[in-house]
Amino acid sequence: MTFKSATQPFCRTCGKPIRKYTRRVWIEKEEKHRAPASSFSRYVVGVARTREDCARLSSMQVVSVTRAHDKEFILSFNEWDGESYADEFFCTSSCAAVMGYAACEKYNLSMPAWRNRK
Ligand SMILES: [Zn+2]
Repeated sequence: MTFKSATQPFCRTCGKPIRKYTRRVWIEKEEKHRAPASSFSRYVVGVARTREDCARLSSMQVVSVTRAHDKEFILSFNEWDGESYADEFFCTSSCAAVMGYAACEKYNLSMPAWRNRK
């Protein structure tokens, strides 16, 4: 579940900032037959040695890069639209579970379908 916000949301359980929802962009030196672009991955044709090179290959913010072993070329980078986060409330499913247990213990919460079952 992605969440769009002008400000960074924080995990309701542990307080950590919730990660940006980014898309991995693979940089290919030449056109290849690849899987079509998706919400989490796409590829571009080009060569990148710097973050600025990556920025020229994207219309979004470049938030991280992955370099080749020789450290000269960038293999891929993550682009971000400036407003999408991985979740609205929790940084991980573990933190969501902790909050779920706490809610059940403190308020005896349950889903309506379970509560109404005889
Ligand atoms: Zn958390």
